[in-house]
Amino acid sequence: YACLPVLILYPFSVGMVSYGLAIKLAEHKSTLRALSRTDSLTGLLNHGSWKDLLQLKFQKCQQNQSSATLALIDIDHFKHINDTFGHLVGDSVLRQLSTELQQNLRAEDLAGRYGGDEFCVILPNRSLSQAKVIMEGVSQVFCDFRHAAEPELRVSLSVGLASYRLEYEDASAWLNEADKALYIAKKTGRNKICTGAADLLFDSAPIDPLST
Ligand code: GH3
Ligand code: MG
Repeated sequence: YACLPVLILYPFSVGMVSYGLAIKLAEHKSTLRALSRTDSLTGLLNHGSWKDLLQLKFQKCQQNQSSATLALIDIDHFKHINDTFGHLVGDSVLRQLSTELQQNLRAEDLAGRYGGDEFCVILPNRSLSQAKVIMEGVSQVFCDFRHAAEPELRVSLSVGLASYRLEYEDASAWLNEADKALYIAKKTGRNKICTGAADLLFDSAPIDPLST
């Protein structure tokens, strides 16, 4: 009889502690999984997880014959910003762009940091012209950004757009088209939004950073 409380309480307390540990472990696992998919500086999807989602969206477009547009976004003369104002200011510019992307996109749009000063967005169910309007808005807001400690700092974006097309064999072909469009934007003066040859060619007027 003297042992009875111990016989009952001991397995019960061991069970409770094990349960608590299992819950904590599951929480840590999900936090780690989220961290492994996130870019630490900007909080956006990192390169690898964005590429995985691009693959999934590509398959969805193929199966459902739905539309989507890719945007590759690159900050103009970012190396010069780092060299002139320092890397901490450069980091704040990267964070500023990621905040503006999060604020100006829908929940279903998938924004990631492709690497360095290059960002990438999948805009499901958006035509090329709708995506252009959205990216013009993002570019305008970004151009209007003023750094409190560096009032001389001016920023602008170059954007390459490519809408999903049935003839793309894989997601890489689609991404490649957006990359070509970004290259055109850079080569033809920066601070603009362009499409590649596969889409209806357009080349937006540059946004004037001093317009506001
Ligand atoms: P372009 O207009 O042609 O895009 O020129 P750019 O100077 O923006 O292009 P480039 O690719 O030469 O420069 C990107 C720079 O971004 C180079 C690299 O040092 C810097 N960079 C990459 N990652 C980070 C980061 O996390 N923080 C900061 N501050 N700079 C970074
Ligand atoms: Mg750049």
